[in-house]
Amino acid sequence: MKCDGCENSAVYTRKYSGQKLCSDCFSNSIVRKTAKTISKHKMIKNNELVAVAVSGGKDSLALLKIIHEMSSSHNFRIKAITIDEGIPGYRNEALEIVEKFCEELGVEHKVYSYKDLFELTLDEALDLRENEKTSSCSICGTLRRRAIDHAAKDIGADVIATGHNLDDTLQTFVINMLSGDTNKIGWMDPDTSLNSLRKIKPFCEIYESEIVFYAFTNDIPFQSEPCPHMNEGIRTEIREFLNSLEKQHSGIKNNLYKSILRVSNIVKETNYKEKTICKKCGSDCTGNVCSVCNMVLKLKENQT
Ligand code: SF4
Ligand code: ZN
Ligand code: ZN
Repeated sequence: MKCDGCENSAVYTRKYSGQKLCSDCFSNSIVRKTAKTISKHKMIKNNELVAVAVSGGKDSLALLKIIHEMSSSHNFRIKAITIDEGIPGYRNEALEIVEKFCEELGVEHKVYSYKDLFELTLDEALDLRENEKTSSCSICGTLRRRAIDHAAKDIGADVIATGHNLDDTLQTFVINMLSGDTNKIGWMDPDTSLNSLRKIKPFCEIYESEIVFYAFTNDIPFQSEPCPHMNEGIRTEIREFLNSLEKQHSGIKNNLYKSILRVSNIVKETNYKEKTICKKCGSDCTGNVCSVCNMVLKLKENQT
């Protein structure tokens, strides 16, 4: 089987387009698609400092590699940040991988922990939750958003880049729909940001399976150990459901992604809320107290 782009043998078939590619042409297609997403949504401007949030998973390390290569030929700078949730036995492996990878690329790297920022590790926060139904990932995700904002401000970044891929967006959309949280859908368009610090997802138009293949063919050493809390929420089931749909109907994820962008814009227009400032921490929010302060205050009330 010959590559559609050169004379080499193809190692990857893009089922939704029928394209057959060798590993070099495949990698180039991922780099080009990422660059196109960045320029289409004007994600990075001249002279900006981009904080790349690197967890140690395949998506964020692949993003760091691609965006680092782009930064050398474009007019922007990057630094890497990692959030340490304080999950015993899980984050340590990732931290080592990220540290080594950043060193190889020559990218400055800084670690910020929940313990330093909130005086609680994730496990301590989980022990304090009132309602067992509040999933570990929803607490962790809320704290992580704030930790990343803090880290980006601390290093003086103008924009935060995360490795979220197309599948992540689809899963989040379905979770929001199933939990009745339709307001959040209005914030899903990549051109929408509540925060004054821009958040960008340069992989938002790329399938997770393609990032995995990119990481694999480029020998990116990503963390294999999953987080112990990973299967507690509904996300894994939705991920598997969407994968089984895609298997039978290739391209269905791309269709759903386009629909989400349209729906997100409609929700945003009909549900527009003025930005306010959180009374506790001064962050941008849409009420009196932001969701992070609300959560941390409630957890601390339970601390004896
Ligand atoms: Fe946090 Fe959930 Fe991710 Fe684990 S899987 S690091 S608990 S968001
Ligand atoms: Zn080729
Ligand atoms: Zn706040």
